[in-house]
Formats: sequence, structure tokens, C-alpha cells
Amino acid sequence: MTRTTLTTPSAAHPGDELRDSALRQLDSAARALDLDPGMHKLLRTPERTLIVSVPVMLEDGKLEVYTGYRVQHSTGRGPAKGGIRFHPNVDLAEVEGLAMLMTWKTAVTDLPLGGAKGGVAVDPRALTRRQVERLTKRYTAAILPIIGPERDIPAPDVNTDESTMAWIVDTVTMMTGQSSPEVVTGKPLDLGGSRGRTEATGRGVAFVTLELLRGRGTRPEDARVAVQGFGNVGSVTAKALAEAGCRIVAISDVSGGYASNRGIDVPAAIAHTTQHPRRLLEGFPGLSTISNEELLAMDVDVLVPAALEGQVTPKNAAQVRAPIIVEGANGPVTADADRMLADRGVTIVPDILANAGGVVVSYFEWVQSRAQFYWELDEVERRLEIYMRRAMDLVLSTAETYDCSLREAAFIVAVRRVARAIEKRGIFP
Ligand code: NAD
Repeated sequence: MTRTTLTTPSAAHPGDELRDSALRQLDSAARALDLDPGMHKLLRTPERTLIVSVPVMLEDGKLEVYTGYRVQHSTGRGPAKGGIRFHPNVDLAEVEGLAMLMTWKTAVTDLPLGGAKGGVAVDPRALTRRQVERLTKRYTAAILPIIGPERDIPAPDVNTDESTMAWIVDTVTMMTGQSSPEVVTGKPLDLGGSRGRTEATGRGVAFVTLELLRGRGTRPEDARVAVQGFGNVGSVTAKALAEAGCRIVAISDVSGGYASNRGIDVPAAIAHTTQHPRRLLEGFPGLSTISNEELLAMDVDVLVPAALEGQVTPKNAAQVRAPIIVEGANGPVTADADRMLADRGVTIVPDILANAGGVVVSYFEWVQSRAQFYWELDEVERRLEIYMRRAMDLVLSTAETYDCSLREAAFIVAVRRVARAIEKRGIFP
């Protein structure tokens, strides 16, 4: 295990860029809060970094060795929490940046958890399922000394899913001799997963959107919404907002999109994409088709980018007409575009708040697994709504107090909470 201090090197790799941007956001919140320089330095530094080699024996007898990471940025407010991704681009800088963002995500929603992230630099699509299982189990064994329900609780992320989580539970159970479902979240329901986890992020996006509209005195019935991306997050957001009365006037996926002033039948679109994943555009004759670029420029009340990062850039920011953007995806608005939109008075609900519903229900899953008592779906949703609306309200009032954007306010709320917890505990020894 090594300790490294986060520096701000020139952004040569995407991982460096991500970490730099996380650090810049922390630095700006630290300035607004007039944070003690020592505390600021502490929060720039991950608590613990573990780098492991992950050997996997392939079927043809060839040995392949991958590099794995687990970074715990902060356990100031509770056990560290964050996903595990399997992707060729995974590197230390990326994992450090993502771990830090998890600290702010759990803090802004007031979960009693810290932030972590893990990953293996591997292209899982080049491996068989059996090889991915072996890779997961070996990686889990390697990071076992620092994970656990009271230390650090992994979850799915890019290219990992509930099966990956089940393999982690199995490894920990075999290695400790104790049933250990609470070591991860995002488990299959059969293994102690939470009801409502799959829909949690999209429903959370909808709750913060509705709370923002409520604060502005806009009735859902009067809100026209465009949603980019029709996967897990986008489709559930569209469905939840439509159920609340909003008019979903445009949706899209990688194949293209549809617009309709009268409103789109979201359940029908979900039924279609369940049958034809990522082929939304092959579904609805009679509706006008639009490109993703056109969707981003539509005259709507709310735009929800819920597909990929980097969708609104300085190139197309001037065309965006929506007065409200709710970041369903991670980082859909680039930093430069963010400034341009802020200058025009566009309100952006930042990703660390808008898409935190997944981690909120992950927290509920951890609570249920530890208690060995499982809640009904309506209980999960009721509590999720309370957490998301409360977080949105605090970020809105903080933005007023500090006269800043919602993004800056979300970081101020989160950094202040983590700093206060660490101050109250005192620096050990
Ligand atoms: P997903 O794979 O289920 O869906 C992605 C959607 O985006 C698909 O409809 C796909 O067709 C579409 N898409 C892909 N490329 C596109 C393009 N170039 N233009 C337009 N649409 C495109 O993924 P997801 O789980 O819904 O995640 C979406 C985003 O939300 C990602 O940024 C992810 O990191 C973030 N996020 C997801 C969760 C979660 O719980 N699933 C939680 C937090 C953040």
C-alpha cells in the first residue's frame, strides 16, 4: 500500500484530465469555504491506494497479467463506497479522480459513507465469461485486505454488473468462511440485492428535476422535457417524469431520436428498446426523427443528457435553448461549456447530485444486507425521494448563499460535510 499526494500534472491522458477536473472543483469549493490549508491538502490526498497484479490463466494455457487498483479517497464520514470498472483505459489517475468524486457524491446526499473506486485495466469483451469470473475473483482476493462492509463496499460500474458482484460475494465468503453479502452492493435480488436498485439512478434524476421545478413554481404538466440516451438512466428518467405529468417531447439513443410536441409514449418506447436494444430509431413510424445534435438544441424546459460524457461542448453550447439541464450522465457538459451556459443563466443540476440516486439505493442495500431485512419497493422509493429532494433543496439554498452555480454549491455542501466530520473526529493520533 502506498500513499500518494494528488498533484495537478498536465492532462496528457483522459484519467489525468478527470483527476485534474475533480481537484479543480475541490479547490474552488475550498476557496469558497475558506478551508484550512491543511484540511484542503488532506482532501486532495487519497487515504489509501492499492495496486495489484491480477494474473489470469487463459484456456489455451497462456498466462495473462492485468493491473488492478482500489483507491479509498476518504473514510471521514464512514466506510468507503464506490464502483469497480473493467476497461482498458483504467489507470491510477482515473481511479483516484473517480474515488474523490464518490466522496462528494455520498456527502452531498448525506449518506454515512466515504468514497472509493476500483478497476482493472482490461478489455473484458476480449475474454470469455469464465475468464472474467476468474479475473474478478483473483482481483477480489488481492484487494480483500482493504475491503469489507465496515471498510470499503464496492459496486458495479463500467463493464461490471450484478454477476460481478455475486462473484465478489462468493470470493469473500470462501476466503473468510463467513456469509458476506454486505461486502458489495448492486447484487442480484436472489443474493440480497435491493428492490428498486436498477431504476434508482433514473428515478433520482426525476426527483431532483421535479424538486427544481417545484421551487420555481412550474407544474410538471407545464414542463416539456428532452432526454438524450435511452438506456438504464435515460429511459427510467423519461418514464418517471412522464408519470409525474411532464411532457417528454424528445428521446434519443445511439441510433438517433424522435421528437413530438404532443409528447412521446415512453412505455411503448421502453417496450421497443427492450426488444431492440440501442435501436430506438427502428421503432416509431409517424413520429418526426431527429439527430442527437438537434435534440440538444431543442426549445424545451428541461434537457436531460443521460447518455455519455462530453455531449455539450463549446462547439454546441450556444445552440442549447433549454433553461435547465439535469446531468443524468456523468460529465455530459464539459467545463468550458459549463461556463458558457452559466454566463447565459442556464441552470445545470450537476451529475454528483443529479445521478446520485444509484448510490443512495446502494446505501439502502447495504443497510438491508446488514440488517438481513428487506424493504418493499415502495419503501425504497419513498426514502429515495426524501434523500434526493432534501439534497436538491440544500444545494439550491447553498447556491443562493454563496451566489454560485448549483455545481459549485454541490461541491461546497459536500466538502464542508467531509471537512466537518474529519475536524470533529480530530486527526489521529
Ligand atoms: P446504458 O448503457 O444503459 O445507456 C446508454 C444510452 O446512451 C443508450 O441508450 C445508448 O444507445 C445511448 N448512447 C450511446 N452513445 C450515444 C451517443 N453517441 N449519442 C446518443 N446516445 C448514445 O448506460 P446507463 O447506465 O444509462 O448510463 C448512462 C450514463 O449515466 C453514463 O454516463 C453513466 O456513467 C451514468 N450513470 C449511470 C448510473 C447507473 O446507475 N446506471 C449511475 C450514475 C451515472
